[in-house]
Amino acid sequence: MTKKVMNWTGFSKKSLQERINLLAEKQLLSSENVDNLKHNRQLPLETANQMAENVVGTHSLPFALAPDFLIDGKDYQVPFVTEEPSVVAAASFAAKIIKRSGGFTTVIHDRLMIGQAVLYQVPNLKKSQKDIMTQKAQLLMLADKAYPSIVKRGGGARDLTAEIKEDFLIVYLTVDTQEAMGANMVNTMMEALMPLLEELSGGQQLMAILSNYATESLVTASCQVDLRFLSRDKAKAQTFAHKIELASKLAKTDSYRASTHNKGIFNGIDAVVMATGNDWRAIEAGGHAYAAKDGQYRGLSAWAFDQKQQILKGSLTLPMPVATKGGSIGLNPSVRTAHDLLGNPNARELAAVIASVGLAQNFAALKALTSTGIQAGHMKLQAKSLALLAGAKEKEVPTLVSQLLKAKHLNLETAQSILQNLRDQESGTKIGKS
Ligand code: NDP
Repeated sequence: MTKKVMNWTGFSKKSLQERINLLAEKQLLSSENVDNLKHNRQLPLETANQMAENVVGTHSLPFALAPDFLIDGKDYQVPFVTEEPSVVAAASFAAKIIKRSGGFTTVIHDRLMIGQAVLYQVPNLKKSQKDIMTQKAQLLMLADKAYPSIVKRGGGARDLTAEIKEDFLIVYLTVDTQEAMGANMVNTMMEALMPLLEELSGGQQLMAILSNYATESLVTASCQVDLRFLSRDKAKAQTFAHKIELASKLAKTDSYRASTHNKGIFNGIDAVVMATGNDWRAIEAGGHAYAAKDGQYRGLSAWAFDQKQQILKGSLTLPMPVATKGGSIGLNPSVRTAHDLLGNPNARELAAVIASVGLAQNFAALKALTSTGIQAGHMKLQAKSLALLAGAKEKEVPTLVSQLLKAKHLNLETAQSILQNLRDQESGTKIGKS
């Protein structure tokens, strides 16, 4: 199916039905997935009941679209699953500016998973380490034999090392898991190695499991931003660029700021990881461990103002072992829709998209923080959430939001009271007319 090029201006102003119709009209989704959206098809209860224990229902979140990401020369409409207001708007805003500045470029450094088999009470750690390494070929073969289907798919065990850490002897195995995240694959392989590792070391097995610190699955996304998008006033634009550079430096220096800086990055990353049915705990764990790789927790991205070229340059590197096969991917209709919206990318391409989204989200947050502050935009969206919470109908929301923003205290009580007034006025008008 050839997807048509389109202009996304005004997408946010359209009604929900109009947005879905547009996706269909521009052939950005298969008819089955358009249908899934039209009928809001969710995870079937019977499937949910097989996925987790003690199931009593399913849980929904907004499924949104951040359009117009230009990544490695290709356009992507990115699905976001998030409950947080302003995340999609911020990402879309950043994507638009970055596209006009040339788009994102990415590098997939590698796509291997790491497993660890840990031994304790090893009588002679150094000798055992040596003995294990002598048997490396045999151990790699054993690992492959434990999961032959991944070998058939072109993956399998790639390397093995043994390290002594305090009283532990830890055997690390790197595995090419192809399109899968690989947790179950790697766990199976690690457990299969244990009997021989115990025999070779004379030690006891403590555990055998995948590591979420996926340092062999690093992705870098980079972009640049033309200064004219920071402000029309050249001097102001330079000040903003300089302040974004400083904000990135601050996140590399102060862990309190780094945590919030990275949270902003994960606002985008988690939303796409969830939409595509991936394990967001695994991605968070890997990302945060990588942020502390040199012993101090630091911001994951870096921004620099290139004075000579008059551009702002950003980059983000982190582990991104996402999958397009396995786990619960394929069970949930909206996950299938998400993959389709992205053009059914492979695992490497999906990782590149997600890292770019993280960088876009970070740019939007830093731009807001170092210029207007984030509260202005947030309060509008917060008012919208309060209006919905107060029970406002779709057509009542805009008036309620505008009145709420003028109120002294932005809370649920105020929203309820304004809504009541609006409804009283409306019924008064109707009675007056009749
Ligand atoms: P699966 O156990 O689902 O294995 C991947 C599946 O995808 C296999 O059945 C494989 O088939 C199939 N597949 C089809 N095509 C491909 C392809 N091209 N490349 C690779 N596999 C393909 O998933 P994972 O091993 O990836 O484990 C992920 C799950 O494990 C997630 O649900 C995660 O939440 C969970 N988990 C995470 C842990 C952690 O992060 N620490 C720990 C434990 C579990 P075949 O078998 O025929 O090769």
